[in-house]
Amino acid sequence: MTRTALVTGGSRGIGEAISRKLKAEGYTVAATYAGNDEKAAAFTAETGIKTYKWNVADYEASAAGIAQVEAEIGSIDIVVANAGITRDAPFHKMTPQQWKDVIDTNLTGVFNAIHPIWPGMRERKFGRVIVISSINGQKGQFAQVNYAATKAGDLGIVKSLAQEGARAGITANAICPGYIATEMVMAVPEKVREAIIGQIPAKRLGEPEEIARCVAFLASEDAGFVNGSTISVNGAQFFV
Ligand code: NDP
Repeated sequence: MTRTALVTGGSRGIGEAISRKLKAEGYTVAATYAGNDEKAAAFTAETGIKTYKWNVADYEASAAGIAQVEAEIGSIDIVVANAGITRDAPFHKMTPQQWKDVIDTNLTGVFNAIHPIWPGMRERKFGRVIVISSINGQKGQFAQVNYAATKAGDLGIVKSLAQEGARAGITANAICPGYIATEMVMAVPEKVREAIIGQIPAKRLGEPEEIARCVAFLASEDAGFVNGSTISVNGAQFFV
């Protein structure tokens, strides 16, 4: 049976690696994005993976988009809630808008990506929910009160969904990447990036493919008893 996967933010960065890996594993994959039409078109042309544009922060748009994906490529068995943003500022300078933008995209956006798919997973007695959280949700981070709050919230979402979905054959797990070499991290000034790498025992950034391989495991039949877990993928950057 060919299973179908939806990857939010799946045409760029970590999400792109996840989409490519799941396709290589034999899944039918759909990838969403927010606004980068050029990148999405190039990605579809190269991979054959269909891309869909909607704002994950908008529930109605998510529900309509998911209905369209399911009509075009089939019921979604695996959802990877990956889309995310940063709006960093020290707390005393963080604006309510910066707080709201990150909550709406990274936390409400995760709800919006899963909620319309959940009833179908329950009916079909199979589902894999995989949320891309962050090491900074586990340990907090200077100038990321908003981001850390959402990424910690993601862990609460999967632990709760795991308990609700277990009897229906649905698992929900989170991956907490450390620093991964994507545009999000390469946008950090080089000096800061070098300092970050210095704090990673592996002395390197992670690769998006290293996250994608964990997603492929969690999506697989083999991972049926892995439920409510958090997998840290961070080059031994321990935080407790
Ligand atoms: P990128 O900035 O490279 O890509 C983000 C993706 O999310 C893009 O596809 C973007 O679409 C999409 N997106 C952003 N906002 C929205 C929105 N409102 N609606 C729909 N799609 C949206 O990010 P990364 O690949 O670096 O990060 C992916 C995930 O991994 C995020 O959740 C991030 O927090 C998490 N993470 C990343 C780490 C890292 O080191 N990079 C470390 C830990 C966690 P578009 O292309 O149209 O802009």
